[in-house]
Amino acid sequence: MPDPADTFGTVPNMTSRQRVLAALNREPVDRTPVCNPTSVATVELMDLVDAHFPDANRNPEKMARLAATSYTELAFDSVMPVFSIIQESSALGCKIQWETKDNWPTVRMSEPIWSEPEDIVIPSDLCTHPDTDCVLKAIEILRRELGDDVCVIGKTMGPWSLGYHCFGVEKFLLMSLDDPDKTRRCLDRMKQVTIDFGRAQIDAGADALTLPDHATGDLVSGAYYEKYLQEMHTQFVEDIPIPLILHICGRTVDRMDFISQTGMAAFHYDSKNNPQESMCICDQRISLVGNINNPETLYSKGPETVAEEVRSNLDAHVHLVGAECAIPLQTPIENLKEIPRTVQAWHREHDHRN
Ligand SMILES: [Zn+2]
Repeated sequence: MPDPADTFGTVPNMTSRQRVLAALNREPVDRTPVCNPTSVATVELMDLVDAHFPDANRNPEKMARLAATSYTELAFDSVMPVFSIIQESSALGCKIQWETKDNWPTVRMSEPIWSEPEDIVIPSDLCTHPDTDCVLKAIEILRRELGDDVCVIGKTMGPWSLGYHCFGVEKFLLMSLDDPDKTRRCLDRMKQVTIDFGRAQIDAGADALTLPDHATGDLVSGAYYEKYLQEMHTQFVEDIPIPLILHICGRTVDRMDFISQTGMAAFHYDSKNNPQESMCICDQRISLVGNINNPETLYSKGPETVAEEVRSNLDAHVHLVGAECAIPLQTPIENLKEIPRTVQAWHREHDHRN
């Protein structure tokens, strides 16, 4: 497949939504979109629009208002209201620590709700529970208020991540070592949560969905990805009919070939992977997005370092540019604004070549 970047400078102006959706399909774009498959919420943005955690994770109006800032304040091409990874786990019955303004909500892992495949029962109110309904309502609000100009991205957690929340990380990982058959039965029952919540977000108006499934680089090997998840992720492409953006943190070049075969629209990749190396492995079978480092660059360095990382992605013709994962809540706004600024500057330099 030809490199879509070859057509830069020849495509008429697009809306942000058109730009993101085209890049997710590896179709020509007028410029590389700036996209946030995961949260870009910060305390500064919360103050700006008076929508703070924990309310912005539980109240649809506040959730939508905070999410809109990635478009209205930061000039990104997408909005993504699901800041946390625990909305559906709350609906499943996990105990949630909702925390305060400057901290993320977490699942209380010391109180797992399941230990056997037979324990996995999906409650009938999975998508009407206040914490999942909040996401659906926020997507509806964003769609209504921002119209068709901006790409609205939702999020549905994969079964591997749900396993951590509902069984406890250690117990779930030990089970995957000791009893592959039992692990598969668990994943098979949990995958319906991913599908049902994903489809409900499509009905609410989402344009694309991030699907985090934390078979993370440092916890799980590439061979594990192939063994447990590749087939299931391939099936999600049919079961959840909208562009899917798989999110896995850490160094993942050992599984990018498997991920590229799933048919998912994009892979949200971590700064531990080199952009050029990753593009070579994926070979235009899947789009890449992400890679700008969170804990060092966005959180503690200045705009010059942000610009360098954005440029190394653009030089590698990575399809969409953004942060590698949910950004720290104390990230300075100036660093985030530098991402679209550098993208514009890079295109001004490169589109006039001929
Ligand atoms: Zn992550």
